[in-house]
Amino acid sequence: MEDCLFCKIVRGEIPATLVHETETTVAFRDISPKAPVHVLVIPKAHYANVAELGAADPALGGQVLAAVEAVATKEGVRDSFRVVFNTGPAMGQTVFHVHAHLLGGGSTGFGAV
Ligand code: 5GP
Ligand code: ZN
Repeated sequence: MEDCLFCKIVRGEIPATLVHETETTVAFRDISPKAPVHVLVIPKAHYANVAELGAADPALGGQVLAAVEAVATKEGVRDSFRVVFNTGPAMGQTVFHVHAHLLGGGSTGFGAV
């Protein structure tokens, strides 16, 4: 996807603070963190949202979850964190390349769902 912001991060065309990378996934710090730990975990392949990913490639979805676990461990929040996939503009999605928000490291600033 030529113009997709997160595809550009995957290709290294836009800088990001990477915290984890596998053959199929990459994780980087959110530019505007909403929690002490706020990492975005994405598949390198472009899918618009988690529904498209789950329908097209559930194994890749599992690899994203494995990356979430690895990042939570690295960041020291494995026993207490939240994962959010905003899906659609009405639910707050602004970047249309599927991404898991991994939020942790405190209980302020990102209220209960
Ligand atoms: P959404 O609103 O789509 O669920 O989440 C998009 C997230 O991407 C937001 O939390 C926003 O702060 C983050 N974001 C937007 N542009 C960039 C960027 O260029 N670099 C990084 N690291 N995060 C970004
Ligand atoms: Zn993309």
